[in-house]
Amino acid sequence: MAKNEAPTIDVKLFVDKEKKKVLFEESDKEFVDVLFGFLTMPLGTIVRLLGKQSQMGCLDELYKSAEDLSSECFQAKACKAMLLKPLNAASSHYCRLKINIDDTNPRAVYVCKDTNCCAHGDCAFSSVPDTLCKCGKAMEYAGDRPGDDAKTAAGGGSENGVFVKGRQKFITTDDLHVAPASTSLMMSLCQKLECRIQPILSRAFSSSLQKSLLKRSLTSNQPLTGIHFNVPISPDDATLSMIPGNPCPEKVNETEDKIGNVKIKILQTKINSAVLSICGSAEGYMGPDCQNLLLAPELAAFSGSSASQILQVNESAPRKLKISSCFKCFKIGGFSNLGRCHEQGTRYSSVHREHIWQYINCQNATKTAELCELDPKFPGGGGESSNSGVYVKQESQSFMVTDDLRVRPLSLDSSLRVVSEGKIQMKDLVEKEVTLTKFQARVMELQRAALMSRGALSSVLLPPKKKKNLKHLGY
Ligand SMILES: [Zn+2]
Ligand SMILES: [Zn+2]
Repeated sequence: MAKNEAPTIDVKLFVDKEKKKVLFEESDKEFVDVLFGFLTMPLGTIVRLLGKQSQMGCLDELYKSAEDLSSECFQAKACKAMLLKPLNAASSHYCRLKINIDDTNPRAVYVCKDTNCCAHGDCAFSSVPDTLCKCGKAMEYAGDRPGDDAKTAAGGGSENGVFVKGRQKFITTDDLHVAPASTSLMMSLCQKLECRIQPILSRAFSSSLQKSLLKRSLTSNQPLTGIHFNVPISPDDATLSMIPGNPCPEKVNETEDKIGNVKIKILQTKINSAVLSICGSAEGYMGPDCQNLLLAPELAAFSGSSASQILQVNESAPRKLKISSCFKCFKIGGFSNLGRCHEQGTRYSSVHREHIWQYINCQNATKTAELCELDPKFPGGGGESSNSGVYVKQESQSFMVTDDLRVRPLSLDSSLRVVSEGKIQMKDLVEKEVTLTKFQARVMELQRAALMSRGALSSVLLPPKKKKNLKHLGY
């Protein structure tokens, strides 16, 4: 498919015109696949695609902080790219969607192009720009690795979709509950919604509508109605100052089970626990691999942090990449010229006193290589990557994190700015030292609060009553 030919997906809308409400949509699996694709997206991708206006808790501020922090603050330059343009661990599936709104290139391969590199024997590559080779040089783009999956078409008529399979239709309700279509389901939905089925509208979903749907699915439980009746997104929709079921610090003990549940929900959806429901109904319509991919998504290789270890999110294994040339030729020619390693011709040999066949460019007898993915967080220059879960440099630097999770290097200037932005009198401030007990539970709470609240730190660190007074105090 040509890149400039914008694909669309047709859906049928069942609406209640008087109430201005979408009851449900009927669609092929292509639309459902696109919806499920939301679940595979890293949070950083969602924020970036929505122009840092996802309105998802504090994440826009967190993203802008990573953008604004100098590269010096990070363990390696590539760390910034990993946060701002994270790779989707399910990219081999995601890139087959009919409408792909993620513009990250998961196939890009970077290598150290120095053919005399001291770490040449490692055959290291990276999927992230600016990764440092062990020799200290920045890796450079060597082309896109060939797609093993791009050609597995996901056309409407074919049996295999991306995540779901089969030829049946699906029903998607306004709150994005997805189920295989059936007359009885439609009838029961109509009964439940106390509506009569009204004229059916057809709508072609484009990539811009998909982005809008993604955004609304984060902040509203009526995203389809929102899109089709063009309901403005209220900036307060996402400000859920009262997080339902958020345990206050004193009650952590009693609610430990609850925290466990919360953890699972967040990890499963990565965006919002209310977005989709695929348990149970997915049976038979989705291979077990795909179901796992959506219900327990992994992080891309090396993308984990100490927090993701606490949250028990697995990382994909580092990739191995087989190429049909030696590593040296690959460094020179990239994917576009793998043939240089094999090119043969005749040359006059003064020893044999005749023309002989031989390799012209490369005398290396081994004409294949297996490349191994290197941790982009590796600081390079002879350093050992002992802190593989760490993005931020750990030496001496302190940071200030505001209630809405803006992160800045700690300085008098940034402290004063926070106080003045918060419109707080100096005399009203108290400094407290807080010991975080039950750290694992706190990290889970913080992750949840970051997704749902604009005052993430308050909701995790303070008992609920005092929230208002200390709203903008950073720790
Ligand atoms: Zn090198
Ligand atoms: Zn070669």
